[in-house]
Amino acid sequence: MASWAYCCSTFPEVSQLGFNEQIVEMCEENANQTWTADEISANLVKYNSTIVNIESDPSFNATSPQFVVTGKKLNKIAHANFISYKHRWDNVSNSHYMGIAFVAAVGAVTIVAGLINWSLRLSRRYSNAVVGRVPNFFRKYFTLGLIGNHLHVNKLQGINPDRVEAFFIFIMFLYSILCCTIIGFNYLPGDTVFANYQAGTSRYWGDRSCIMLSYQMPLLFIFPGRNNFFQYITRWKYSRFVTFHKWLGRIIMMEIFIHSFAMASQTYALDKFTRFGTDWYRYGITACVCAAVIIVLAAAPIRRFYYELFLTVHVVLVVMFLWTAWRHAYSQAYQDFYWACCAIWIFDTVVRFIRIVLFGGPKTAEIELFPGEDVLKVTVSSSKILKGTPGSHAFIHFLTPLRFWQSHPFTVYPSETHEGAVTFTCRVKKGMTKFLADKCKSSGNNKISMKICVDGYYGEQSPYQFYDKTVFITGGTGIAGPYYHCKKLIQTDSNREVKLYWSVRTYECIKWFVPELLTFKDTQLKPVIFVSQPENNISSTSSDDNEKKESDVDSLEKDDVLKQLDFVEIKHGRLSVAEIVTAEIASATGSVAFGACAHTQVVDDVRRTVANSLDHSTHKVEYFEEMQSW
Ligand SMILES: Cc1cc2nc3c(=O)[nH]c(=O)nc-3n(C[C@H](O)[C@H](O)[C@H](O)COP(=O)(O)OP(=O)(O)OC[C@H]3O[C@@H](n4cnc5c(N)ncnc54)[C@H](O)[C@@H]3O)c2cc1C
Repeated sequence: MASWAYCCSTFPEVSQLGFNEQIVEMCEENANQTWTADEISANLVKYNSTIVNIESDPSFNATSPQFVVTGKKLNKIAHANFISYKHRWDNVSNSHYMGIAFVAAVGAVTIVAGLINWSLRLSRRYSNAVVGRVPNFFRKYFTLGLIGNHLHVNKLQGINPDRVEAFFIFIMFLYSILCCTIIGFNYLPGDTVFANYQAGTSRYWGDRSCIMLSYQMPLLFIFPGRNNFFQYITRWKYSRFVTFHKWLGRIIMMEIFIHSFAMASQTYALDKFTRFGTDWYRYGITACVCAAVIIVLAAAPIRRFYYELFLTVHVVLVVMFLWTAWRHAYSQAYQDFYWACCAIWIFDTVVRFIRIVLFGGPKTAEIELFPGEDVLKVTVSSSKILKGTPGSHAFIHFLTPLRFWQSHPFTVYPSETHEGAVTFTCRVKKGMTKFLADKCKSSGNNKISMKICVDGYYGEQSPYQFYDKTVFITGGTGIAGPYYHCKKLIQTDSNREVKLYWSVRTYECIKWFVPELLTFKDTQLKPVIFVSQPENNISSTSSDDNEKKESDVDSLEKDDVLKQLDFVEIKHGRLSVAEIVTAEIASATGSVAFGACAHTQVVDDVRRTVANSLDHSTHKVEYFEEMQSW
């Protein structure tokens, strides 16, 4: 006991009191012995009075020492031991502090973003207040800023981060790289824990990277969850968390590689190839391979063109990763981080299930295809408990034997044709939607009934009501969210200025939305529709009789549609974003909010034009993005 205390006393940088207390604790926990710090101090005093310096006492008998001894050589060994263990375990403690700091920083950003965004949502005054040269500069170049051209449409078909996201991703990357590579001390020659430089340094890097990633891993599971509480606090859109999920995944992959290479290097340095035969090493290798395959198969083109394949492989590999990483981490008592990941995932799945039950469980929906427009309308009785808000979406499971497990997000709005029902409008693409369209076509009347489950509602409602004027710029099926917003805005204030610009390809593409547009008749809202290919369904020059008849019918239908929509302004040509945004800001007498939900290029253009026009008004000009992809 006293020799421990003496050992400590030779290191001025170590607090004797703290050390003694640690010994008391250790004795109690491990040997069931009760000591007090004072007793240890008293022992040390006694020890110091009897200690013999073997270098200055020539009569000292090294073969049978009768007294406790000290000397330069012994001190050197003690010092080497002390530093070696200190490096070994300080590195572990510092790695924990760095991981905790990462999570704490995420928490701090969440609280600050939450305070700002909830104030914007709850206070009209605050929403309209942030104007002037400095806030406009900040918003133009940061919160509304895109990097480069067409940021939302990158070459690999993915969605690029915006500037706010890019900023946080950069900080996360930088912090993680610095933490993993700057260990904070050098390997001590003569280290008594690690036999050589490579073994020691590799282990420091290996520990640092794996502890860092252990703290980041639960966040990786929280971010993509539909019931992610960070989203409720910050009011950031879900797509932002999906972006953080993707990039945090890449950061963690980088750390897994650092960990794997470092530990392989240590194995080589210590010539401990027997490790390959141990379970924990093999599980570690398997987890690393799973993580690498997950990253490769989550590449944007695969998500874009083979979404279901991506999803299935992603889920299977993530389960395999969790299992193998858990087994690997168990050997070092880090398994709790992986339990946390499982708990988060299970929680999200259970809440999704509860939402489906609250919506009413499996319900029969009416699905109608509008063939010319390639649009499906899914109408189902609404939930008595869950209420959607403008812009919210739900995930639909279409209950067919092979595809029931898929869930597709669609924007919701109250049905105009069925009392007490909600409608989802779906553009026909190549997967589930094509399957439904084919079923409708083969039904004879383009209509089918099908059991569906609805998991919703998700998404934040943007506070358009706080602005004097609201302008929506939409395209195709992107109209669903803005339509519901417009309806709500004019219902709550019949004097509010609300504008709706909708871009479609042909006249036929208007037909499916006529019942909804008719709700704006005799209101202050006069929708403006841009038809980019007006000639496409009015050609009556066909030589083929059948085609001629069809186009005659088309013409009649078109006339009928136009007659019904006599309050709507129809323009031929492409929607000109710059012109609309500039004109709407110029004619505004107060604050203006723009909402965009269209093709990603159009959304980019609206955002960029609004960002560049902030100084054109003395009032607040705000922009909200209602994206239908992530
Ligand atoms: C928040 C949100 C709201 C949306 N609202 C609407 C809407 O109101 N109307 C509308 O027509 N479309 C909407 N979409 C897009 C719609 O979810 C996809 O078009 C639909 O899932 C395509 O199904 P599919 O199997 O036919 O597609 P595929 O032809 O297999 O793929 C087409 C595209 O859809 C993506 N996609 C496929 N399945 C999913 C899925 N389960 N989850 C997310 N993306 C998927 C693919 O990555 C690909 O980019 C919305 C998307 C999001 C994220």
